[in-house]
Amino acid sequence: MGIDRRDFLKLTGALTFILAAEKGWAQTAKVEVHWLGQATTKVTALTGKVIVIDPFLTKNPKTPPQYKNLDALGKVDVILITHGHGDHVGNLGRTDGSSDAAELAKRTGAKVLGPAGLIDTMLDLGWVTPEQGIRFAKGGRVTPAGPQITITQVRAEHSSEVAVVDPVTKKRTTYPGGEPAGFIVEFENGFKLYHMGDTGLFGDMRFIGEYYKPDLILMPIGGHFVMDPRDAAYATREMLKPRYVIPIHYGTFPVLKGTPQEYQAALGQTPTQVFPISPGDKLTF
Ligand SMILES: [Zn+2]
Repeated sequence: MGIDRRDFLKLTGALTFILAAEKGWAQTAKVEVHWLGQATTKVTALTGKVIVIDPFLTKNPKTPPQYKNLDALGKVDVILITHGHGDHVGNLGRTDGSSDAAELAKRTGAKVLGPAGLIDTMLDLGWVTPEQGIRFAKGGRVTPAGPQITITQVRAEHSSEVAVVDPVTKKRTTYPGGEPAGFIVEFENGFKLYHMGDTGLFGDMRFIGEYYKPDLILMPIGGHFVMDPRDAAYATREMLKPRYVIPIHYGTFPVLKGTPQEYQAALGQTPTQVFPISPGDKLTF
C-alpha cells in the first residue's frame, strides 16, 4: 500500500492525544475502527459499546480468514445496515437462505438498525426478531447503544433490494430494501464517524459536511456501483472536508476497480489525512 503501518500507529497515537486534550477525556479513551473488507466495519466506542456496520464476513473474499467466523467479532451491541445488497446484509455467497447480519444478530442479541423498509423485509424473512429490529429513517437520530452515542441516518445515492435464493428450490426472489442510507455515529467525546454506505456523488454531501461536520469518513471509492476515485476526491476536497478518510468498497470484486492510490492522486494536496489500510487493520482515534 506504500504506507508503513508504524507511521499509522504514530499518527493515531498523536490523534488520540490531541482529541483527549480537546475534549477533556482521559488519554486512554479512544474510538477503535476495525475495517474487515468491503464496507464491513466494527467500531468500539470509548465506553466499550460495539457497533458493527454492514456485516459481510463469511463469504467476503477480502475478510481475513480469522474473521470469517462470526464468533470472532465477540460482543456486539448494535448492527447497522446501510442497504439491502448482498455485500452489506451479508447474504452474498451464502446458500442457506440466511445472511451474516441475521446470524450475527442471533448470536449476539444485538439490536439491528437500518432504513425502515429494509428492516421490514428482514423481519418478513425471519432475519431479525421484532425485539431486535429497529426501523428508522433518514434524518432520524437514535441511541440504541446508550444515550452518549447518537446514530443519525443520512442520504445515500444508490438503490436497495434484498435478493434471496431459496436453499431448497434455488429460486431467486428480490424483496424491497427500503431507501439506501449512510450513518453518522457521534461518540461519547463528540468524535463523529460517517459511514457512507454505497453512494454515488450527490450535492447534499456539502450539506452533510457543513451540518454534521464528520471527523472520519469511511468512503466508497471502487466505482461501478459507487463513487470512483475521482468522484470520491471531489466529495472529500470540495464538499465533505473531513479530517480523516478510510477508503472502502474497492477491490473486493473485479468491477470495483478504484484504488486508494488513484484516490490519493486525484485528491492531491489536502488537509484531509487518508488512511489506505488493509482489511483486518485497526485504527484508533
Ligand atoms: Zn450496494
